[in-house]
Amino acid sequence: MPRRPTTNDDERKPQCTICGKEKSPAEICYAERRRQIFVCRDCVSGFLTGAATCGDPYFEQLLLSSADYLRDQLGDSGPVQKRPSADAGKKMAPLPFSREELGTPRDIYDYLSQYVYGQEQAKKVLSVAVHNHYKRLLYEAEGHNVDSAVDLAKSNVLMIGPTGSGKTLLAKALAKRLKVPFAISDATTITEAGYVGEDVENILLRLVQAADYDLEKAKIGIVYVDEIDKIARKTANVSITRDVSGEGVQQALLKILEGTVANIPPKGGRKHPEQEYLHLETRNILFICAGAFVGLDKIVEQRGGARALGFERKPESGTLSREELSSNPMNYVEPEDLIHFGLIPEFVGRLPVIAALKELTRDDLVHILTDPRDAITKQYQALFQMDNIRLEFTPDALEAIADEAVRKKTGARGLRAILESVMLDAMFELPKLTGQEIARCTIDSSVVRRERKATVEISPPDSPQLQE
Ligand code: ADP
Repeated sequence: MPRRPTTNDDERKPQCTICGKEKSPAEICYAERRRQIFVCRDCVSGFLTGAATCGDPYFEQLLLSSADYLRDQLGDSGPVQKRPSADAGKKMAPLPFSREELGTPRDIYDYLSQYVYGQEQAKKVLSVAVHNHYKRLLYEAEGHNVDSAVDLAKSNVLMIGPTGSGKTLLAKALAKRLKVPFAISDATTITEAGYVGEDVENILLRLVQAADYDLEKAKIGIVYVDEIDKIARKTANVSITRDVSGEGVQQALLKILEGTVANIPPKGGRKHPEQEYLHLETRNILFICAGAFVGLDKIVEQRGGARALGFERKPESGTLSREELSSNPMNYVEPEDLIHFGLIPEFVGRLPVIAALKELTRDDLVHILTDPRDAITKQYQALFQMDNIRLEFTPDALEAIADEAVRKKTGARGLRAILESVMLDAMFELPKLTGQEIARCTIDSSVVRRERKATVEISPPDSPQLQE
């Protein structure tokens, strides 16, 4: 039976929490100083090989959840074989949804469509990938051993699309639908170990924080890594100039993408040898990497006339016609294009699902202003409604807003800022109302073009001109 607490005074050797023996620090394989937990190499090794049991469900769980990390720690000094009960057949913590609640890919797609306008192909690809990912986890959580059946590989996703086309929105909507922790990171802030910047583990720390430090929840979360195209090598020619920074970051990300037990410094920042770590298994975390990949379309086009190696994105003929390509070449991105762009092959291999988003047209932007469940114009209308003011946008106003967003080249991202400035005067001059009057604020294209200020017109309840 494990003994707690043990001491860790400098003058005394730490005492193994399982066997109770005093051990030298070098013999300790697992340490949580704050909770005064130490486990020696012998106990870990015995436990992992199945030769010893620990006799305490708490410690069983603790060691099981860190099994991969412990195997790493033991290195080749221990006679370590995979303990059959460690991973295989181990029941995962229950997911926050059932098979029924997960629904079908079509259900996920329908949910996404409430928030994301257009981008049909990307929504479809994502719905299927995410459905498969969580179906596998549910299957494991039910106690099935997927390893013994067909090995279902994890399908991390690469989203390619211009800025403001809905990449982040899609990922957020997915996490919301599934009620799993969600964290956003920026690939450009990550650096290789040894350089100034953040360690790659900080990406995971954000997820752990989003899960309120519940590691079981974090293990099944979604991590969104933006600006992934910015860590491409500057040249695909590996032998001559190695762009170490980009490649190093890709290497660092590779490990957590493919599944490892990551050591996360709980306070973030750079790792420090003395620091205690949270151990998070990344095998079941869904990674969605995203970027604009400016210039990738040219690479696809150059390859396009020849062979099309595509999988599900392969057009029937096997060869891309000029029209097909020019409609959105990004729909035909192949791993080799990404390698050409500067991603290393191993990294590309870990992102088997590619979802391409297209640049939003003026028409799309008009729909985005009004259609989604939480469309910006609906939000303003709700805000005005709280003051009993009826807010209306004329069709030409919506088009003028879309035109301005197109000019600014910010995609849908610019819509809110434009509307914010258009609505400022009306919101600033909000009148005091008794609630009896009929108040209306109409935004037309002249207001959007700032030719006149938006005003709230008020008239008594019986006023004919403002009645419907
Ligand atoms: P990015 O592709 O750069 O990640 P975002 O997803 O952050 O773009 O989009 C910024 C904002 O623009 C979103 O919060 C959302 O309000 C709006 N938006 C972008 N694309 C769409 C879309 N397809 N449907 C609805 N809203 C969108």
